[in-house]
Amino acid sequence: MSNLEKDPAEGVCGGEGAESQVLELLEAREVLLGRTTKVRRLLPNKNRRMVGAWCFVDHYGPDDLSARVDSYDGPGERGMLVPPHPHTSLQTVSWLFEGEIEHRDSVGSHAMVRPGELNIMTAGNGIAHSEVSLPDGPPRLHGAQLWVALPDSDRTAVAPHFNTYADLPVLDLDGARATVMIGTVAGVTSPAPAYTPLVGADFQLAAGRSLTLPLTLAFEYAVLVVAGSLVAGDLTAGFGEMLYLGTGRDSIFLTSADGARFLLLGGEPFEEELVMWWNFIGRTHEEIVAARNDWMASIDAGGTDRFPAVPGYDGDPLPAPPLPGTRLKPRPRSR
Ligand code: MN
Repeated sequence: MSNLEKDPAEGVCGGEGAESQVLELLEAREVLLGRTTKVRRLLPNKNRRMVGAWCFVDHYGPDDLSARVDSYDGPGERGMLVPPHPHTSLQTVSWLFEGEIEHRDSVGSHAMVRPGELNIMTAGNGIAHSEVSLPDGPPRLHGAQLWVALPDSDRTAVAPHFNTYADLPVLDLDGARATVMIGTVAGVTSPAPAYTPLVGADFQLAAGRSLTLPLTLAFEYAVLVVAGSLVAGDLTAGFGEMLYLGTGRDSIFLTSADGARFLLLGGEPFEEELVMWWNFIGRTHEEIVAARNDWMASIDAGGTDRFPAVPGYDGDPLPAPPLPGTRLKPRPRSR
């Protein structure tokens, strides 16, 4: 998925450092994508912009697609329909708990995103992709769209590419089971490479069980609860809520009365300051303006070197919204 907000604000993230051993409940902001799809945005959050290099977390569903007409501006389409749109200086991590999404991108990838499989797209200086739930696919959709900021040393140097890791390692810890998406948890390491020290894992904790989860002292962590509820210290996170844990912990004690499924996200605090707007990450406002111009030129030209067309996608790409401050405000209506 992508950031489909019609009037996104530009935000500065990173370079904040991290406090040690914070325990803080982060609530989601509901964001409407297109006309009918509501997602819950956990990052950036008004209290916390990033967790390690994780800079964007949307949680969506579980939605019954058969009950809905469209999720974007595609009349008659069922479910998710995100037309080709660009990304820069980041990786998208698509993670499903239920359902299936078809991914296509401008380097020619065509993949089905399925539960338990890691699909990671590295934008480098520019890539475009589409994400669609197919009419004959599973009726329910539940997932997380995550972005990882690329460090300055790699963000324009790395060639855009897409990888699927279908065979991820599974970890058993007391009453918990986890799929390690990226990085290392309790000595179990994902095959997916990362550009900064990073971890992501999908945990299931059985009802009535507790877990002492080993952590890396220098990492900053958060957990996102996607089912059930999870207790850490004196805080309880329910469905769609995130617990921010800070840094400086070698473990955290977690319990769940009714069982929980949660994502563990962490990494070394991201020290570079970055600028995020719409689907772009840069280091300056000027870079964002250039990326937007290049994307709009790509739409006009049917593809450019920086943002080639997405082969196999039948439809128009998604135009960028106006940059903040460039749209005339509607006149206040007189009564
Ligand atoms: Mn996207």
